[in-house]
Amino acid sequence: MLKPFSTPIYVTQPLLPDLIKYNCLLRKIWKAKWLTNMLGPCHHVLETKLSQYLKVPHLSLFNNGTNALITAIQALDLTGEVITTPFTFAATPHSLVWNHLQPVFVDIDEASLTMNPSKIEAAITKKTTGILGVHVFGNPCDVTSIKQLAQTHHLKVVYDAAHAFGTTVLGQGIGNYGDITMFSFHATKLFHTAEGGALTYQDEQFKDKLYYLKNFGIKNEEEVITVGSNGKMNEIQAALGLAVLELVAEEMKARQKILKLYQQRLSNQPGIIFTQITNQNESQSFQYFVIRIDSQLFGQTRDQVYVKLRRYHVYARKYFYPLCSRYQCYRHLPSSAPNNLPIATKIAQQVISLPFYGRLTPNQVNRICDIILKKEI
Ligand SMILES: *Cc1c(COP(=O)(O)O)cnc(C)c1O
Repeated sequence: MLKPFSTPIYVTQPLLPDLIKYNCLLRKIWKAKWLTNMLGPCHHVLETKLSQYLKVPHLSLFNNGTNALITAIQALDLTGEVITTPFTFAATPHSLVWNHLQPVFVDIDEASLTMNPSKIEAAITKKTTGILGVHVFGNPCDVTSIKQLAQTHHLKVVYDAAHAFGTTVLGQGIGNYGDITMFSFHATKLFHTAEGGALTYQDEQFKDKLYYLKNFGIKNEEEVITVGSNGKMNEIQAALGLAVLELVAEEMKARQKILKLYQQRLSNQPGIIFTQITNQNESQSFQYFVIRIDSQLFGQTRDQVYVKLRRYHVYARKYFYPLCSRYQCYRHLPSSAPNNLPIATKIAQQVISLPFYGRLTPNQVNRICDIILKKEI
């Protein structure tokens, strides 16, 4: 007899550092009496440590990922239309509209769930100035084809790498591809600062530009040189980041074990498809564990599995259903028509994100799999 879990199981649990460790860092901040404005004891150290970890030449911290993405797009001076994916979190297309740009949705590739390059090419018009790709679930976009397209058509490339912290492609940190890449450090992400984010880039000229854009455009006491916003990461966030960063390696190891167990239990089950691709040239991000349910083969729909899990107090999530193209604010766009997005439309009906964090026990994972595989709905 399967019993419901006595306490609810959510898709993730934030990494929480030892309070004594965190307190040590807070003490430094208290001593310096400097809480924000990028000059305290933690901000600079975190920027340096993260550029090393992500293997990128330049990195700028932000107060959250969405603000970072909005600022990246602003820094690239895009106009008109930007091609993007509907299979992502709301922040991706919103960041375009905050910059008065029109999102143009294109369909995704069935294996990687990232934008299909041939669909990108077909969607380029005279108004297109950029491509906004998402390394969804840590699966890298086809960065080589996208680079080629961008060169041919003189487009800028921005990547949303909110799911791809630590992912590498051909030995390179994923933040090295495109003009600018955004990482999110929201509490639900593997590495986090409660709220936070960063931009990475090759071209050093973005350093100052992004600095002004996230600090009101203030150059010095008497000069304001651009219409900047407030995107600064504060010291309390940066300190949390420093403490959490020390836990990341161990968390990844723990998640690797959980991933293996899920794979053992759920592979070779008709109608269950894994969504994380593991190419030889790429490394995993261990951000999410997402499966697809093919209802014909599995005998139950994704929604039936979702409800079944809830009855046992397992709160799986339907990432990413509905597609962004179905939101009220975007459904009127010509590119939002479901027949323009057949693969994304199908996938959105099939995906379910399962609990995935280091403190899950093998017993809990086994019970979650028992519930999923249970014949009765
Ligand atoms: C988490 C996330 C964001 C936004 O990050 P915040 O730091 O919460 O603003 C953007 N895009 C994707 C795909 C995300 O998962």
